[in-house]
Amino acid sequence: MGIIADNVRQILSEIPEHVQVVAAAKTRSADEIREAVHAGVALIGENYVQEARAVIAEVGDLARWHFIGHIQTNKVKYIVPLFDMIETLDSMPLAQTVDRLAGRLGRVMPVLVEVNSAQEPQKAGVLPEDVLPFIRQINTLEHIRIQGLMTMGPFLDDPEGLRPYFRATRELFDEVAKAAVPGVEMKHLSMGMSDSYRIAIEEGATLVRIGTMIFGPRNYS
Ligand SMILES: *Cc1c(COP(=O)(O)O)cnc(C)c1O
Repeated sequence: MGIIADNVRQILSEIPEHVQVVAAAKTRSADEIREAVHAGVALIGENYVQEARAVIAEVGDLARWHFIGHIQTNKVKYIVPLFDMIETLDSMPLAQTVDRLAGRLGRVMPVLVEVNSAQEPQKAGVLPEDVLPFIRQINTLEHIRIQGLMTMGPFLDDPEGLRPYFRATRELFDEVAKAAVPGVEMKHLSMGMSDSYRIAIEEGATLVRIGTMIFGPRNYS
């Protein structure tokens, strides 16, 4: 066991029990991921299908796999069989495709709705005001189960600047929960990365997606 295991144990010892770490593992090898898993991480986040396929073949059942990248429509057919959850659902056509593919496999795919919390043009995610209508719309699909929200927030030098976006996403999460849409279980709020997860937890995150603080710096993102 080395530095990755040390990093994981340090983080796990600091976060509250109701929060789970998703180790954001893009660019990391199966050995690196295994070290994180053995140190106590149960959830692994992957952004790229090809990379994920290789490491899932090696690490597989030791962890549960969350898709956290931008979804290209032509890749959905590979994502659905490989992953345990999709955190980045953000359009009706995508929801319909996931539903159809999951149905064919006889599965129900847990999903989080990605929120474009800073309302940035060109950015992935559903605009905050559209989230509840979107959820009411996709709620009718039988082979996906909405389990919460995910947000990235804007890229900022000072992570403290993310706080208002995390807070607003938490408020939206509560609003959706209160609407009690049939079949929708609001139990996960995924927000925060290495430089912002502490702030995200203060603002109500239940899933934090941590890469660099676990695995060290990456060469590309
Ligand atoms: C890479 C990535 C992270 C983790 O980023 P770090 O800054 O390395 O912790 C979190 N979420 C998503 C969607 C990512 O792609």
